[in-house]
Amino acid sequence: MSALFSWIRSEPWGIHVVPADAWVDPGKAVARALVTHGHADHARGGHGATVATPETLAIMKLRYQTGDGPSGGETTPVQYGETIRLPGGVDATYIPAGHVLGSAQILLEHGGERVICTGDYKRRADPTCPPFEVTPCDIFITEATFGLPLFTHPPIEGEMAKLLERLAAYPDRCVLVGAYALGKAQRVIAELRAAGHHQPIYLHGAMEKMCRLYEEHGVELGELRLVADTAKDDMRGHIVIAPPSALNDRWSRRLPDPIAAFASGWMRVRQRARQRNVELPLVISDHADWNELTRTIEEVDPVETWITHGREEALLRWNQLHQRRARALALVGREDEDE
Ligand SMILES: [Zn+2]
Ligand SMILES: [Zn+2]
Repeated sequence: MSALFSWIRSEPWGIHVVPADAWVDPGKAVARALVTHGHADHARGGHGATVATPETLAIMKLRYQTGDGPSGGETTPVQYGETIRLPGGVDATYIPAGHVLGSAQILLEHGGERVICTGDYKRRADPTCPPFEVTPCDIFITEATFGLPLFTHPPIEGEMAKLLERLAAYPDRCVLVGAYALGKAQRVIAELRAAGHHQPIYLHGAMEKMCRLYEEHGVELGELRLVADTAKDDMRGHIVIAPPSALNDRWSRRLPDPIAAFASGWMRVRQRARQRNVELPLVISDHADWNELTRTIEEVDPVETWITHGREEALLRWNQLHQRRARALALVGREDEDE
């Protein structure tokens, strides 16, 4: 395999596409970056050229001034399903990953060989982005953030019901939901709307620009108001969304007796909820859970699976038990910032 696929190499800070001298989600500034999505462990500023979906480029412009000004570099937008030719005879096709707005798997083709870099992905429906598409390939480079059998994400409808029941039970308080600013916050808001919650939702200031960006890309979030513009009493009986770091922060004192909730796949682990003083853990993840990781490998059915980004050992073992070729990659700087 390695002789055949010598054009694609795993290095500590990214996947190197050798003939194109391009890097997938590089951890440092490079001449040409192929970026799967906007989370900080995949996207960063300073590249000479950045190839990504238009949505991801918009997110990178907001966060890292990509393509904006003299040091922002060049940008090449690629629509879902579109193939672009890179130097060295490598074709790159961007395919929905179902993770956050703009997230893509990148299919790389060279000399008849096909490699997919998933970036992060999930298999659940998400009103804020198109669903993951199963695409055949020879090498499937998959994330494994929740690569342990204990991680099973429950249906989101049940988590939304828990949140709305708690809200209704305490009309004099508010529910403060900790959620990451890119992806999780907007998905929670869109799912609340789908569950019939049409009250205004109050935002921490750090959420505002990303929510507006989602709306500009056609994701409807309903009426959003800023906590900073609102009197404390007016937020009683309402939902407030803030970055997880704000849950135990002085900032939350401006809220009326908040019930602390946290929307994360890690809320499956009780200890994590306790550490953050979370009263209402909501198990909501934008990553594939264990069953989805293994099902996806079966459906894609690659010749070889490369595992990155999390708990590689258990998924490696699963592949061995199922007579599937696999290896664990040791990429650095892949943290669960986005979960
Ligand atoms: Zn991510
Ligand atoms: Zn990630």
